[in-house]
Amino acid sequence: MNSSEVCDGFFTESMLRLSLPSKIMKAYDDAVCKETLKIAQIDDIVTCRACQFQVELPESAGILLICPKCKVETCRLCGDEGHVPLKCSEVEKKCIVRYKSHNIII
Ligand SMILES: [Zn+2]
Ligand SMILES: [Zn+2]
Repeated sequence: MNSSEVCDGFFTESMLRLSLPSKIMKAYDDAVCKETLKIAQIDDIVTCRACQFQVELPESAGILLICPKCKVETCRLCGDEGHVPLKCSEVEKKCIVRYKSHNIII
């Protein structure tokens, strides 16, 4: 059944060729979809300020990232340490004061 084997191979190839465009299109669509998701998820990635570990944090999860690796809290908005009851602007003032006192030491 040599001829059948060849024929089968050919048939499979022609089948493949026939189904390729739609398959490629589907794969392309999937890839584009995933790529779009990846791009969309960039905003959901928060980098731990302590160990640079990148964690996916959906917007619904709030602005506080608690690093699963080192447990350090990071504010996703200002990249500083967690300050959940306070706004970034309120903490910034504190940071400047702290920075100034550090400056004296430097
Ligand atoms: Zn960390
Ligand atoms: Zn902040």
